[in-house]
Amino acid sequence: MTREQRHRCMSRIRGRDTKPELVVRRWLWHQGFRYRLCVKSLPGRPDIVMRKWRTAIFVNGCFWHGHECENNRQRPSTNAAFWQEKFARNRERDARNQALLQAAGWHVIVVWECQLSPKRREATLRELDVTLSRIVLQQNSAPGKRYAMPDEGNEASLAAEPAAAYRPATAKNPK
Ligand SMILES: [Zn+2]
Repeated sequence: MTREQRHRCMSRIRGRDTKPELVVRRWLWHQGFRYRLCVKSLPGRPDIVMRKWRTAIFVNGCFWHGHECENNRQRPSTNAAFWQEKFARNRERDARNQALLQAAGWHVIVVWECQLSPKRREATLRELDVTLSRIVLQQNSAPGKRYAMPDEGNEASLAAEPAAAYRPATAKNPK
């Protein structure tokens, strides 16, 4: 096994909790978004799902999902045809799953690994912020809030709770 092959196997094993995905999850959490992970019942098993906003987010590794970017300048040279075909198949499958989700009324967001490199991360998250704000606005202004789920419906009221409402008056002079 060459070093490169071993590296690829490792990235495969690490699977779901890859770092780029964590960057997005942490950011979402801080923004007050709540989500579920790797929802198997949806096409393509989106990495992050926000049912309340009918939004599925895929955080795609550039290698396996065949992203045409810097990260993939050095494609494996042995068996090039095999890999090219594999990447093409992965891309097709991704596109198919995203189309299925969109047809079912889901917003689909794809964030690429390379967009989360330290240099590009801030801009990417800003862009994500704009996209999600638009989705939230659109859904809040839609009559009936068709997609609000009962299990996630009280998040907003929880967030609006005043935290320091019952601070005891004697707290200034603790004995
Ligand atoms: Zn990329």
